[in-house]
Amino acid sequence: MDAFSFEPDGPQRGIKAAARLLATRERILVFTGAGISTESGIPDFRGPDGVWTRVDPAEFTYSRFMANPETRRRSWQMRQQSGILDAEPNIAHRALVDLWGTGRMLAVVTQNIDGLHQKAGLPPEAVIELHGNAHQAVCVDCRSKVPTTAVIERVGRGEQDPSCLDCGGIIKTDVVMFEEPMPVLETNRAMNLAFECDAVLIIGSTLSVYPAAYIPIHALETGSPLIIANLGPTDLDELATVLVEGPAGQTVPGLVKAVTQEHSP
Ligand code: NAD
Ligand code: ZN
Repeated sequence: MDAFSFEPDGPQRGIKAAARLLATRERILVFTGAGISTESGIPDFRGPDGVWTRVDPAEFTYSRFMANPETRRRSWQMRQQSGILDAEPNIAHRALVDLWGTGRMLAVVTQNIDGLHQKAGLPPEAVIELHGNAHQAVCVDCRSKVPTTAVIERVGRGEQDPSCLDCGGIIKTDVVMFEEPMPVLETNRAMNLAFECDAVLIIGSTLSVYPAAYIPIHALETGSPLIIANLGPTDLDELATVLVEGPAGQTVPGLVKAVTQEHSP
């Protein structure tokens, strides 16, 4: 039985407890959500200033997007205004590149669509995007891909509802919308790593979006402890072995540094 798992008095707290646990782990799976990117200027969905405090999520379902050219026009505008395409990685993203450099991190499984883990310097094979990537747009008919900026430029030149230049089909950003399934390859890879890992470090997620949240749950079921580094509570706090409260930019670099130091002889 893992000495850290299922504490009878509830989860341990703080960076030191998290670092102590991770210091002995060789196959760490990192699971990130919108909270790791708020310090890069991208709002989350469910935090106190989250997008859902201003916008109704029911407007952004796949069926509405497909049925209504006006919804599509608004989506392209919002995508441009969101700042997601111009954002820069922050020190939490960069700290994970250092963790990857130790050879003890299996991958980052991310719910984010901002591409900031790669922009920070993680190689593509180290990042599994469960909800797609907003930098790409895809035709729903012929599946050809174009940069999102190219579509936004067409909207800027006055096109109301830009369609695929190859086949005339509807174009959407290459992200998973409400009602859409998660991508099969990425989901399978993430699920396999959930079984392979020996600890999960969760950063900046309410852990309330399914099926994505099944990844840490499956890891837990196969004996891996969960460390949750978040600002505010999450849905899985009770199942965590260690909780680290605070903004990722303040907690993750210290945590990675402590892990690296504890591990070196
Ligand atoms: P969420 O909005 O449900 O939860 C984010 C959590 O992070 C909240 O608990 C919030 O308090 C916390 N948080 C905010 N700032 C933080 C910080 N600086 N450090 C640590 N924690 C912080 O996000 P989710 O669980 O990722 O689910 C939302 C869904 O929305 C995801 O599926 C994702 O695809 C999408 N999304 C992505 C982005 C992005 O790509 N950057 C942004 C918004 C939403
Ligand atoms: Zn097409």
